[in-house]
Amino acid sequence: MTNRQLFLQHVATTSDFPIGLEIERAEGIYMYDPNGRPYLDLVSGVSVSNLGHGHPRVRQAVKDQVDKYMHLMVYGEFIETPQVKLAKLLADNLPESLNSVYFVNSGSEANEGALKVAKRYTDRTEIIAFNNAYHGSTHGALSVLGDEEMKNAYRPLLPDIRFLEFGNVADLEQISDKTACVILEPIQSEGGMIIPSKEFIQTLRARCTEKGALLIFDEVQMGFGRTGKLFAFEHFDVVPDILCLAKAMGGGMPIGAFISDKKILDSFKNKPMLGHITTFGGHPVCCAAAKASLEVLLEENIVADVQRKGELFVTLLKDHPLVKGFRQLGLFIAVEVETQEIMIEIMKEGFELGVVMDPFLFYPGAYRIAPPLNITDEEIHHASELLIQAMDNVMKRT
Ligand code: PMP
Repeated sequence: MTNRQLFLQHVATTSDFPIGLEIERAEGIYMYDPNGRPYLDLVSGVSVSNLGHGHPRVRQAVKDQVDKYMHLMVYGEFIETPQVKLAKLLADNLPESLNSVYFVNSGSEANEGALKVAKRYTDRTEIIAFNNAYHGSTHGALSVLGDEEMKNAYRPLLPDIRFLEFGNVADLEQISDKTACVILEPIQSEGGMIIPSKEFIQTLRARCTEKGALLIFDEVQMGFGRTGKLFAFEHFDVVPDILCLAKAMGGGMPIGAFISDKKILDSFKNKPMLGHITTFGGHPVCCAAAKASLEVLLEENIVADVQRKGELFVTLLKDHPLVKGFRQLGLFIAVEVETQEIMIEIMKEGFELGVVMDPFLFYPGAYRIAPPLNITDEEIHHASELLIQAMDNVMKRT
């Protein structure tokens, strides 16, 4: 049973737990129930907005675009202004080779598009992925999920997929001239915040180039400043062939993208000319929100302070007897505890006290702290006090 299943089962059988907690409004780092009780959001909807709830500039951008237009959508006839502006802003903040943006609706769809275009561009079929990887829930994205048992209910999935061990440099030899692409998160999120060595990522880059396989980085969860760099690949001094984005991209609105060099995306135009058609992908209101969200991140230089804030959490929590260690980069923190049961107890206790964290899909025995990046030091201190109180309460009971 996965962490999340276990957690939900646990919650469902605990009558005093506020399952199905109704949230009436949310602002900044807080969510409020109908009685006005605040819940401190240390998860940002699993990195759905890096600016917290309802950032005024994102909200205003949505309202302004709603007043201008909400759809045009005639294939090839109209180009929507918010898409053009957002694509330009993204490309301006990415390396030269990531110059063409294909908008979609979600992280799963960004990965689908990337896998498809890699097959078209290379004319190969083999896809390489990694153990404990999560890339989404559509059939293609599910096919590269790095857990055999979880996939059983959905087989048959895509053929010709090979799984390697994340972080194992020797395994990379298996990338061959039959490989269309390699897909991974440069830092694994649901695997439990696993940071590989620079050598691993750089060897991977070199091997893909040598064999003509495309390197796809899924930064759906780690992108847009989460790890203390605008994009996580910057930690490793490499550039992927395709970059997949979603979640925080939209500042709370549903949008995703796969971004590549024009010559790679142009292979969708080859015959048969069925590329990746999507009705709502790059919706103008979502593009307007995404543009405002990225502008705030850049103009307010928010990313520059993210590593320090992550370290502040670690400093404040490290002496608690239940804490066995951390894996932290920026504001993505796995807090290690002794067992999965203790992790669940801490999360339940946190809910009671009004602080919300999250488990990892594939890593028992750690809870996740991934708050909005504009969290203040005062809020970090308050959140840590609540977490310490939650852990104290669990310790007293066990
Ligand atoms: N990739 C990663 C790394 C993710 O964390 C997620 C979502 N948890 C996805 C892909 C899928 O994104 P979505 O839910 O928007 O389809």
